[in-house]
Amino acid sequence: MHDKPFGGVKTMGLSKQKNRRFPLLPLRGLLVYPSMVLHLDVGRERSVKALEKAMVDDHLILLCSQSEVNIEEPTQDDIFRIGTVAKVRQMLKLPNGTIRVLVEGLERAEVLEFIEENTEFYEVYARELVEPTTEDPEVDALMRTVLTQFEHYINLSKKVTPETLAAVSDIDEPGRLADVITSHLPIKIKDKQAILETVEFRPRLEKLLDLLNNEREVLELERKIGQRVKKQMEKTQKEYYLREQMKAIQKELGEKDGRAGEVEELREQLENGEFPEKVHERIKKEIDRLERMPTSAAEGGIIRGYVDWLLALPWSKETEDVLDIVRAEDILNEDHYGLEKPKERVLEYLAVQQLVKKLKGPILCLVGPPGVGKTSLARSIARSLGREFVRVSLGGVRDEAEIRGHRRTYVGAMPGRILQGMRTAGSSNPVFLLDEIDKMASDFRGDPSAALLEVLDPEQNNTFSDHFVEIPYDLSKVMFVTTANMLQGIPRPLLDRMEILNIPGYTELEKLEIANRYLLPKQKREHGLNEEQLDLPQEGLLQIIREYTRESGVRNLEQQIAAICRKAAKHLVSGKSERIEVTKDSLKEYLGNPRFRYGLAEAEDQVGSATGLAWTEVGGETLTIEVSVLPGSGKLTLTGKLGDVMKESAQAAFSYTRSRAEQLGIDGQFHEKNDVHIHIPEGAVPKDGPSAGITLATALISALTGRAISKDIAMTGEITLRGRVLPIGGLKEKSLAAHRAGYKKVLLPMDNERDLRDIPDSVKEAIQFVPVSHMDQVLEHALMAEVMLPPAAEASEIRIETH
Ligand code: ADP
Repeated sequence: MHDKPFGGVKTMGLSKQKNRRFPLLPLRGLLVYPSMVLHLDVGRERSVKALEKAMVDDHLILLCSQSEVNIEEPTQDDIFRIGTVAKVRQMLKLPNGTIRVLVEGLERAEVLEFIEENTEFYEVYARELVEPTTEDPEVDALMRTVLTQFEHYINLSKKVTPETLAAVSDIDEPGRLADVITSHLPIKIKDKQAILETVEFRPRLEKLLDLLNNEREVLELERKIGQRVKKQMEKTQKEYYLREQMKAIQKELGEKDGRAGEVEELREQLENGEFPEKVHERIKKEIDRLERMPTSAAEGGIIRGYVDWLLALPWSKETEDVLDIVRAEDILNEDHYGLEKPKERVLEYLAVQQLVKKLKGPILCLVGPPGVGKTSLARSIARSLGREFVRVSLGGVRDEAEIRGHRRTYVGAMPGRILQGMRTAGSSNPVFLLDEIDKMASDFRGDPSAALLEVLDPEQNNTFSDHFVEIPYDLSKVMFVTTANMLQGIPRPLLDRMEILNIPGYTELEKLEIANRYLLPKQKREHGLNEEQLDLPQEGLLQIIREYTRESGVRNLEQQIAAICRKAAKHLVSGKSERIEVTKDSLKEYLGNPRFRYGLAEAEDQVGSATGLAWTEVGGETLTIEVSVLPGSGKLTLTGKLGDVMKESAQAAFSYTRSRAEQLGIDGQFHEKNDVHIHIPEGAVPKDGPSAGITLATALISALTGRAISKDIAMTGEITLRGRVLPIGGLKEKSLAAHRAGYKKVLLPMDNERDLRDIPDSVKEAIQFVPVSHMDQVLEHALMAEVMLPPAAEASEIRIETH
């Protein structure tokens, strides 16, 4: 670039030099190269004059650019010294006074001197700069490179049409190629001027190559930035769009928008609820955390679940106790028949509470077979106290986490059963029934009974910790009641914490009372039948008890009554009759054929078959033991699903029999000549325990001697090898079972004699209880005198009891 009129102009190598006068037109923001044809709009006065001068001469004018676009009246110093001589091809006056000219660039020229005298327009002496035409083999390569770069540039820029590339490719003069390409580039005037000032075409091409490279890099960068911005834009746009859509959907559904609405609702719940200060603080903190979570974050759900639990638990909400013994007694009697002892104990318990004004004391544990009213008694206690009632079953719980909950980091974590129960109860002082505490198991996942100990310990349970909830929860106001079928399954430390209340089972008479007074009216009510619509007389009920159920409690009885009520309701609704009477004979229509045979298992005295009494978790049961002795080689076979203890009992009975063979009149070698097969029908509940000992021995001796066993005798007692009879458990249950089955005489161990006082009078009236201390006495009572079959001659028939 040359700022001075004569300085630094390359004159070397120019082939021809012409010196002459030209009118000069300063161009603003524009540059014309030789061989370019273009329109110019000329408005400045000086420029118009210069044009007019050119038009009167030879139409030639020198076009030089201003170094700065915005100078209105350029001085000599503002004009580049090298420009292009152009021919004015056309001239057109526009209505606004400007002139549009069509010019064609001819040659480069350099201003040598401004003619100062001319003040109307710029007039100069200038010389044309003609590019030398030297042969240069590298120029071809250079041209090609320039073209390729230009092509890249076009691809990137999109501002130049591909047709331009086609036109440019046809140019074979190197200098012109450089000029034309430069004219298409959106570069600064300064750079364009530099190309114009480079007269020799090789350096001109090189300079252009530099410019092209530069441009291309800039474009690539631009494109990259553009893409990044676009991607970002697309993503934000998409999210924005989806969010808006979600808002619209929520609005349609009438929900408050997104998390904000959710958080607001939770805050409202927090402010309206009653919470201890610590809990309040914690909930508030969690809600704040939730608010900061983006709606999409999965953790939001976990926090939400947690907050919901904290809000739902009854931290300090309490119901007021009704401590009125008389009312409580009325309620207990209203709900249950009999159960004197447990009711009494409950009332004592409540009386103490009334005096000390708080509920602390041993935990009641109601023990008895299914259907004797344990659950409903607990519910009654809640009613009499005016407390909420909640029941949680512990049957099959084998994991500490089921009591104490899972930590929140687990997928699908929840609080344990205790706090779940508290949520259901909805108050912090309910009567809480822990059902089937004897059915809890422990394994490698931790011992649930340890956690339960904490729950039941009044010293610790005011700060019960659940893994999920984390904040200690106060269980000290809860009245816990537990139930179990048998004491055996309850871990010792738990047992020590509890006061056991036995609810054994009902006699036939009691069942009848319960059915009449409670079950029937209740079922009628539930099925929408009034007093007159259904008549189920005593005999009918008795028959249901005897032939359709065989249980210690009254659960099946209640189900059977419900079945009758259902059918009766159907008859009434279908209009077949207005009043229904279920008689002994029509019972079959309602309940089908009887399921059990009432009365003694056997119609006649039997050889090799004795009746024992068993005590299982469903209450007492009769149990027929059959023995057959066959010619053989001394094998002892035991079948039926027997526990190990029962098998050992059988061995003991066998050994005892051998040792007494002579006195009993049995062949001393019987154990070598015969096979003995003992069978105990499985029944619904597997049995185990030593109390079948004397029954096994009796059946065996009967089979070996051929003496029959009295059909109306049942017995229970453990046997030693020497024939002593040892005490057993569950005498009351067992005697109820014997009574149910219609036995007249029950043999029991002498040591159990004192338990007889617990046995209901109705049972004692029907059954003769005979305490025995030795096997000899058992045989005396059980075995008939005469021999019915030749001893052990052939197998007695194998017969399996149906009940
Ligand atoms: P459990 O919990 O001992 O298995 P439930 O409490 O479920 O027994 O009792 C079964 C049904 O028998 C309940 O409908 C209950 O009301 C009724 N029931 C049991 N015992 C009595 C009773 N002594 N008086 C009145 N209804 C009773």
